[in-house]
Amino acid sequence: MADEPILSVRDVNKTFGGVKALTEVSFDLMPGDILGVIGPNGSGKTTLVNVITGFVRADNGQVLYKGKNLVGKAPHKIADQGLTRTFQVMRPYFSLPAYKNLIVPLFSPRARRTGGWRGGGRMGSRDTVAVDILEEIGFERESYVPYKTASSLPTGYLKRLELARCLALRPEVIICDEVFSGLSMSEMASMVPLMEKLQMEGITLIMVEHRLRELFRLANRVMVLNFGAKIAEGSPAEVMENKEVKEAYFGS
Ligand code: ADP
Repeated sequence: MADEPILSVRDVNKTFGGVKALTEVSFDLMPGDILGVIGPNGSGKTTLVNVITGFVRADNGQVLYKGKNLVGKAPHKIADQGLTRTFQVMRPYFSLPAYKNLIVPLFSPRARRTGGWRGGGRMGSRDTVAVDILEEIGFERESYVPYKTASSLPTGYLKRLELARCLALRPEVIICDEVFSGLSMSEMASMVPLMEKLQMEGITLIMVEHRLRELFRLANRVMVLNFGAKIAEGSPAEVMENKEVKEAYFGS
């Protein structure tokens, strides 16, 4: 692994009215990491994702991506640099076929630059790439699932569609906001190797999760938030042994 972090969050604070959603949060993400972010409800996990990806502006502090500060940059500019995210509450174009959901990201400047779309300008080329990406992420081509309207897809496929929309940009980092939530046991079981595959392909991952069992199989490091502050960071085993984490997170 490289020595330089791909993402470095430095002393970030965010207040909503009187609520301190994030207090002096700092951490490094190394290339190839799967960093788990856990914490009780309201501990600031989603705010952290929103701050990193430009959906919420930090009051102060820095979000350095490959050495450049992202604070104040628009979400689409950040995604254009290869730092992408999924949403916990999924927002596909429900009335469109699954593969058509990838057309917007495939038209983006980054997809053109990075070869996310490799077509030659002919109508239909992007459609083919869209179906290729869906297949990569577990939509069986032969089953016609890529062609079904998003509204008819079970949650497991919608979660994959969220990831596919990120993959269309050929990202370097994906921040996954609760990819396991709402999944059946078998859907979760098939999601784990998929995340491993993304890591193998060189994508660095942050996974905000409630499902600790699956997360701890994947993450090499885990960061714990409580009341907006980082209270622990380390390997899954180290974090689980941490007294403050046990008290804050598990109430014992
Ligand atoms: P988590 O994702 O860990 O559940 P959040 O980041 O959603 O936590 O929330 C952290 C705190 O910030 C909570 O107290 C929440 O109510 C508050 N908060 C988050 N977003 C907003 C907002 N847009 N306006 C006001 N308060 C917010």
